[in-house]
Amino acid sequence: MLAHDDHIAVAVSGGKDSLTLLTLLVKMEQRFPYSKITAVSVDEGIQGYRDEALRIAAETCRKLHVNQYVVSYKELFQATTDMIVKRHSGKTPCSYCGVLRRKAINRAATTIGATKIATAHNLDDEVQTVLLNMLHGDPMRIIRSGPVLQDGRSRFITRIKPLYEIPEKEIVLYAYLGGLEFQTVPCPHGNEALRNDIRTFLNQMEQKHAGTKFTLQKTAQKLREQLSTTIQPLQLRDCEECGDPTPHRLCEACIMLEAISQQPLADTVTAAFI
Ligand code: SF4
Ligand code: ZN
Repeated sequence: MLAHDDHIAVAVSGGKDSLTLLTLLVKMEQRFPYSKITAVSVDEGIQGYRDEALRIAAETCRKLHVNQYVVSYKELFQATTDMIVKRHSGKTPCSYCGVLRRKAINRAATTIGATKIATAHNLDDEVQTVLLNMLHGDPMRIIRSGPVLQDGRSRFITRIKPLYEIPEKEIVLYAYLGGLEFQTVPCPHGNEALRNDIRTFLNQMEQKHAGTKFTLQKTAQKLREQLSTTIQPLQLRDCEECGDPTPHRLCEACIMLEAISQQPLADTVTAAFI
């Protein structure tokens, strides 16, 4: 996943996964004098939630002597997640928030000159997403995801998931034993019904049939290896709105922002949203 001279942009939210990842990478990086780590944090604009997480993230970076670069949705997209959920958009808040976060992290990583982006997706996140994509009828997303997301034409910074084989429980244990302070309050908008059902199902399966999550992860990996050679790479062009690479006229984030801007305003949303 990593080269000895990588500049790694570590996506740090302030939760247990990202702070564990940052702590581990900082320990590893000490053995590689040409490497560099910068923490990248995204302020999605979620009142009473993200503020605390950003404080914890900043404090941990200070203790680990890591530079932190913060980007906000408000600044990049003239919108916040709080504003978006007040629109009658028909999609879950996470589907918007996730797409915008990917874009925000990519922008930040480009700005700081990073060569890799490391995110803290763990085994549980990954297998939940595999089943979620199956239930959404979107197998191509399974094939196009994985622990290393590399674009052969170098139009995107390579994204890596160093914790993708680590169960969530082990990360919680590591964070507690290591005395890491992390945010425990859940996001007020993070109630994705289908993902919650899948999480419960997988935990029950794991309880009854130990190894279920690893098996599912390995199955997805085998599918990727088998099918990736038969799949045509996406033909990318520049998004007409923001210039980012995309297979369509507009990138996913710009399509979403355009759709949201056409939604009627809910009572409390101000006209500041474009
Ligand atoms: Fe955004 Fe959903 Fe995460 Fe909340 S839980 S920060 S809405 S992606
Ligand atoms: Zn765009």
